[in-house]
Amino acid sequence: MLHIGCHLSSAKGFLAMGKEAVAMSADTFAFFTRNPRGGKAKDIDPADVNAFLAFHRECHFVKLVAHAPYTMNLCAAKENIRTFGLEMLTDDLRRMEAVPGNYYNFHPGSHVGQGVEKGIELIADGLNQAMLPRQTTTVLLETMAGKGSEIGRNFEELRAIMDRVTLKDKLGVCLDTCHVWDGGYDIAANLDGVLAEFDRIIGVDRLKAVHINDSLNSLGSHKDRHARIGEGCIGLAALSAVTNHPKLRHLPFILETPNDNEGYAEEIALLRQHFQE
Ligand code: FE
Ligand code: FE
Ligand code: ZN
Repeated sequence: MLHIGCHLSSAKGFLAMGKEAVAMSADTFAFFTRNPRGGKAKDIDPADVNAFLAFHRECHFVKLVAHAPYTMNLCAAKENIRTFGLEMLTDDLRRMEAVPGNYYNFHPGSHVGQGVEKGIELIADGLNQAMLPRQTTTVLLETMAGKGSEIGRNFEELRAIMDRVTLKDKLGVCLDTCHVWDGGYDIAANLDGVLAEFDRIIGVDRLKAVHINDSLNSLGSHKDRHARIGEGCIGLAALSAVTNHPKLRHLPFILETPNDNEGYAEEIALLRQHFQE
C-alpha cells in the first residue's frame, strides 16, 4: 500500500485534518506547526488531540510529517533571528509531543553570506540545544534546491550537519523530489544512482519521508518552484518510479504541489493507480 498524503491547513485542529485526510484516501498528512511565515503558534487543544489520536489509531495512519515555518533560520547572520528560530524549534518540539512519535521536518537554513561551514555549525548547535533525549519526535532535515545560500543543497551538507548532532537516533532526512531535482540529482534518468549516492553519503536508513512534487524547472536549476504531478519537468513516470522504488515504497509520501484539497485528492488517486501492490 502506498502511504501518501498532502499538506493540510491546521486552522481547524488535528481531528479536522485527520478527517480531511481520510476523505481524500490519504493515510498521512503534513501541516505547518504554526503560520509558515509568521511566528506565533496556536495552543494545542487537548480534547481535539485526544479525539484525533483515537481516530488516528482507528484509521491506520502512518507517521505524520509536520513542517516547521519557513521563517525559522537556525543559521541566520543576525543573532535575534537565530534566537527566534531556536525558540520556535524548541516550542514546536514541545508541542509535537502532544501527538507522540511523528516527524518534524525543517529547512536547515540559509547562511546568508557567512559560508557553508559556519551555517552547518550553527544549525547543528541549534538542534543540539532544542532536541531532548526524552522526545519521541524524529526531526527531519529537508533536502534543499540550493536557492540563494540555502544549506542542504547536496547530501554532503546534510551529512555534515548530522555528524555534529548528538541525538542521532532522533534525526533523519526528508527527500523533496522537486528540491533534489533542482539541486542537480537526476531522479528521472538515474534514480538508482541518486539513491546509491544518498546511501553512500548519508545512509538510506536515515531517509524517513519523501515530499513528492514535480518541478517547474529543469535539472540543476536551483529554483524551487513546485509543479503538479505530471505537469513539470520530472514527470509522472519518474515520480511514480520514486513511489514504487524498493528502497522508498514503504515511506510516507507528502504532496506539496500547487493544489486545493480536490486537486490533492486527484493526485493521491493518480499515484495510487500507478503504485504496484
Ligand atoms: Fe519544505
Ligand atoms: Fe518540501
Ligand atoms: Zn520547495
